[in-house]
Amino acid sequence: MATLLIKNAQTIVTCDQQDRVLTQANLLIKDGVIAYIGPQAQVADRTIDASHHIVYPGLINTHHHLYQTFTRNLPAVQNMELFDWLNALYKIWANLDQRIVYYSALTGLGELLKSGCTTAFDHHYVFPKGAESGLIEAQFQAATKLGIRLHASRGSMSLSQKDGGLPPDRVVQSVDTILADSERIVTKFHDPSRFSMHQVVLAPCSPFSVTSELMRETAKLARHLGVRLHTHLAETKDEEQYVLEHFGMSPLAYMDSLGWTGADVWYAHGIHFNHEELKYLAQTQTGVAHCPISNMKLASGICQVAEMLRLGVPVGLGVDGSASNDASNLLADLRVGFLMQRLNSSNQAPTGYDFLKLATTGSAKLLGRDDIGALAVGMAGDLFMIDTRNISLVGTLRDPKALLGTVGFASTVAYTVVNGQVVVADGQLVNLDEAKFVADANQPQQQFIALSAAN
Ligand code: ZN
Repeated sequence: MATLLIKNAQTIVTCDQQDRVLTQANLLIKDGVIAYIGPQAQVADRTIDASHHIVYPGLINTHHHLYQTFTRNLPAVQNMELFDWLNALYKIWANLDQRIVYYSALTGLGELLKSGCTTAFDHHYVFPKGAESGLIEAQFQAATKLGIRLHASRGSMSLSQKDGGLPPDRVVQSVDTILADSERIVTKFHDPSRFSMHQVVLAPCSPFSVTSELMRETAKLARHLGVRLHTHLAETKDEEQYVLEHFGMSPLAYMDSLGWTGADVWYAHGIHFNHEELKYLAQTQTGVAHCPISNMKLASGICQVAEMLRLGVPVGLGVDGSASNDASNLLADLRVGFLMQRLNSSNQAPTGYDFLKLATTGSAKLLGRDDIGALAVGMAGDLFMIDTRNISLVGTLRDPKALLGTVGFASTVAYTVVNGQVVVADGQLVNLDEAKFVADANQPQQQFIALSAAN
């Protein structure tokens, strides 16, 4: 039986049901599962001295597009809002292939691990003609190499410009092709068991890139297969206008008419809902992945997180795609999200600790998991540790629960543990030679961008 001991921790913020914060405590993980938390001495195969560290539950990212890691910081799109930004980037993304997806997944997932994220959800929806196969396989391969828990999605686009949608023909597929491949990917990778490392979600991209038929049939298929549903919704006023013009109703009413509300559904962004719609989300337990940095970058608007939490809407945190963030650092979104809500809601805003819980227990709920998101006996051994011997933390340690929101932590975390396996140690990825990878990854990235310029 493999055991890992986090010994004599300065502080453990558990995010458990009692919101316990322990000091000078030990945490023992046996075969990937937390077996003990408390003051008693423990022995293990491997011990990490945590006497100068704060231990937190691993963060959970509920919205990302890892493939966009290779289209970050492109000068041409820096001053655009969503629709123009997508139109410019679709042309580049049409050149994606398995190799690019693999390298960009390693880049994004590696950065997530180094910023305390232990479970990532990815929304991949670009399957270019001629290079459709092996893309989700490449993502799981990258996640397995690094040791991160991955919920991948079989995303999709079926409504091209010629049929009134936004994306070009080269990146859309037929409904039959999408549904058949969705079932294949679920059968191949989805593991619903407790502590599973790989799960699959069905995730058509958005109301302006997917037909009503595909939305409706995908919901039926997901429920038949027992997997969750995800899409972008209420992200921008342009999207709202599009749905009103094409379907004569609001985005939420449209999705509801297609079977897309319920406790097995969560939307990315959820910015432009009115009060009645928020009440309906709470009533149906339909969730929202809040992505504050992306929402600011694309000038999409401010998600009503304070009201959502007051009403009981399930809310988690996400970084969104790397091209609209332009990073894969959930700690950064935790801090920025906290500040944005302060600006928007003043004394009604969620606290720093509330934001940590969005990124842990809140996100776990969106992914349909009750085995991650908190440090308690019987939960997965997923955690990260920050070293308090850091000049940026001097004078900040009175409230470790709130610290990641109120103060923020901009350095690399010291340790990240997933399923009891140490995957970041002393601030470095354990399973990847980072220096070599950085040298290797820049070449395909440059080829990818050059190819797009030539087309
Ligand atoms: Zn997105």
